[in-house]
Amino acid sequence: MFDKEIKRLKQQHLFRTLLSRGSSQGAVIVIGRKKYLNFASNDYLGLAADPEMLRAAGDAACRYGFGSGASRLLAGGSLLHDRLEKETAAFKSAEAALVFNSGYAANTGMIPALAAEGDLIFSDELNHASIIDGCRLSGARTLVYRHKDPAHLEALLRKGGRKGRRLVITDSVFSMDGDIAPLDDIAALSRRYGALLYIDDAHATGVLGNGRGGLAHFGIDPEPWIIQMGTFSKALGSFGAFAAGSRDVIDWIVNKARSFLFSTALPAPVIGASRMALQIVRKDRKRREKLQANRVMLTDGLRRIGLDSMGSETPILPVRTAGIEAALRLSGELFRHGIYAPAIRPPTVAEPRIRITVSAGHTEEQLEKLVEILQRIQ
Ligand SMILES: *Cc1c(COP(=O)(O)O)cnc(C)c1O
Repeated sequence: MFDKEIKRLKQQHLFRTLLSRGSSQGAVIVIGRKKYLNFASNDYLGLAADPEMLRAAGDAACRYGFGSGASRLLAGGSLLHDRLEKETAAFKSAEAALVFNSGYAANTGMIPALAAEGDLIFSDELNHASIIDGCRLSGARTLVYRHKDPAHLEALLRKGGRKGRRLVITDSVFSMDGDIAPLDDIAALSRRYGALLYIDDAHATGVLGNGRGGLAHFGIDPEPWIIQMGTFSKALGSFGAFAAGSRDVIDWIVNKARSFLFSTALPAPVIGASRMALQIVRKDRKRREKLQANRVMLTDGLRRIGLDSMGSETPILPVRTAGIEAALRLSGELFRHGIYAPAIRPPTVAEPRIRITVSAGHTEEQLEKLVEILQRIQ
């Protein structure tokens, strides 16, 4: 039924297929029958298969079972959900927090709860697809500002007029470029123009600001008009997402976010693992320090062989290629050498690239091997 469309995708080198892992996430993964060095995971702290996480998940399963059976409003949530929300609020220095089933569900559910027809949304041009979809669903007018450009944001805020609510949305760490939004300038503008500020901390949680995310990284105190969204699925090695903010914003979201209202609560074992992850991130600085050391080492290694990581400031290290075919060729060549680092193509990004993510779980030898092979085949 879609053969023509699929053929066209293939001709454009935009057809995608799935790879299935035969192991847990980690520095080394199994695909097919072979082992690969893994530079594709967002498991930045190496928590996804950590024994303490597995134990927490198992304990939660024994006590609360696996399936949660209903949405939160119909008692699908357990005491663990409530505890995780209190702990998340404390972790983010916010009044309250709410758990969502995924980051995608959080953005597509919350944004339409916060802005509607007659309101204005100001969105960075490189914001994550789930934010773009949330903006579309909201029915609010969305004004897209140039990437990390506060001057352009201000021009749009000024032009936007004073009617309705205003919502400024930005990733704190951009997922395909690894650069950091100027949250200090953006927060100052949001305050000056009376806008709500919505920060997507998916890649900052566990990584920036002692693990507490973008606001902490910039030393900005949470305010009632700032909503911090983040995920448990990346550096925290678990699954699901959260929003942290003022009590009334969270109460409003509980009542209005459709992805929260009309979806079954996360299983207790997932919540148990997320609680353990928060605990580990709070007390274990070593993982973050190793992540940072690995990031510096790999960035230097790439620079040494003439590859520039496009201004990345985080463990997401993109390597730009001359085009889509070049990205696929480089990724394929790496794969033949036992390294998994995927090509990222439109529509995910405008500029094709290899996206390398480094983790605290990588050894120096593994990073050296990646650089050595890249040097040989680039
Ligand atoms: C991954 C990601 C999401 C989606 O989170 P999931 O839990 O994977 O659904 C949202 N926003 C950003 C910036 C992301 O990188």
